Amino acid sequence: MEIAYWNKEIETIDRDSLKHLQLKYLKETIGYALRTSLYKKRLQKAGITSPDDIKSLDDLKRIPFTTKDDLRESYPRGLLAVDIGDVIRIHTSSGTTGTPTVIYHTQQDLNNWTELLARCIIATGATRNDVFQNMMSYGLFTGGLGLHYGAEAVGMMVIPAGGGNTRRQIKLMKDFRTSVIHITPSYALHIASKLEEFGVSLNELALRKAYLGAEPYSENTRRKIEDLLRIDVYNSYGLSEMNGPGVSFECVYKCGMHTWEDNYILEVIDPKSGENLDDGEEGELVFTTLRRQATPLLRYRSRDLAYILPGDCECKRTHRRLSRITGRTDDMLIINGVNVFPSQIEEVIMQFPEVGHNYQIYIDKQENLDKLIVKVEIYSKLFTGDLAELEALKRRIKDELRASIVINPTVELHEPGSLPVFEGKAQRVVDKRPAL
Ligand SMILES: [Zn+2]
Repeated sequence: MEIAYWNKEIETIDRDSLKHLQLKYLKETIGYALRTSLYKKRLQKAGITSPDDIKSLDDLKRIPFTTKDDLRESYPRGLLAVDIGDVIRIHTSSGTTGTPTVIYHTQQDLNNWTELLARCIIATGATRNDVFQNMMSYGLFTGGLGLHYGAEAVGMMVIPAGGGNTRRQIKLMKDFRTSVIHITPSYALHIASKLEEFGVSLNELALRKAYLGAEPYSENTRRKIEDLLRIDVYNSYGLSEMNGPGVSFECVYKCGMHTWEDNYILEVIDPKSGENLDDGEEGELVFTTLRRQATPLLRYRSRDLAYILPGDCECKRTHRRLSRITGRTDDMLIINGVNVFPSQIEEVIMQFPEVGHNYQIYIDKQENLDKLIVKVEIYSKLFTGDLAELEALKRRIKDELRASIVINPTVELHEPGSLPVFEGKAQRVVDKRPAL
């Protein structure tokens, strides 16, 4: 098989040279980190006051981990390492407990991110002649813009469709001969199930590849999507703290996701002890940015669980391959590709004086899409009142939830005492989706 590369020299660099490069970039990153209030203090404590204090990659272990809470506590500018005038874009998380996290980008940062996505796209065998329909949400969420710029750099024709509106998506695919899509696995299944309903056969489409990301899914789901749409499906991994998509991506051999180690130092640790694990051992992924100027992050704990596949890939890329993400160390829910914490939902519903203390978050699959139902108990006197009033309350809760979590839930109002009561830690989340 003829293998195409975007940047062959870097993608197939020998491991020793790669490590040299990592050390050089790590020192630069330390230089940037020392300009932030968070790391200045932390690095000084670890005896690192200048990039020259880093002599080898092993010195990385002297640096404490960075956590999501560190990012929240540093909001909005505690991790900014450049003049604000040099920043050209920010992305923020949705804000789980009220405080979001923010990543700043310089022009150079965005150029590097774009290059990584271009490498990913070319690695899957796509070319400038492909038509790329991006069905991920655009905006502060990183899934949309990340792939968008990479696809443009490759020279594909990009259709920035964004998420939702299935009828329009299918029409765009048909009218513009879309050949590559970027989509969540649940939405891919949904689209596959809707083709017939909209009277479109696969023969009328030019689809050949899909990039799946933003929510965990199983190998069986990949095969199902490949069969249903008669295409090749590639896994993509990224996290907003590390730019978003483009951290790891599968090549044409579809055997694990190459992680761009000239841009990220990847460690796998035991989430309990923090000890480094060997290739092949499953643990929590920890990333250090190597090329980022505006928001350097050192040893960031992703809370994603996976392992590194030992051995070489047939594509000759030397950047190590990551397994599928097997789980998370925290309670975050991923609903149709969007990250939601139960605490966000609680925060919204509890601001309504009509709402009692008990509620339940119920998630299920309907027509391949995740369905979120929020059941809330309200005070009983409301049930004796006007039905229109109840409907209005329901609508207000629904609107507030949608504004906060960017997902359209179904809201059910229940009488006091009708939802299960728990002693101790409440089981507020009922996830009925089939296990992977
Ligand atoms: Zn490969």
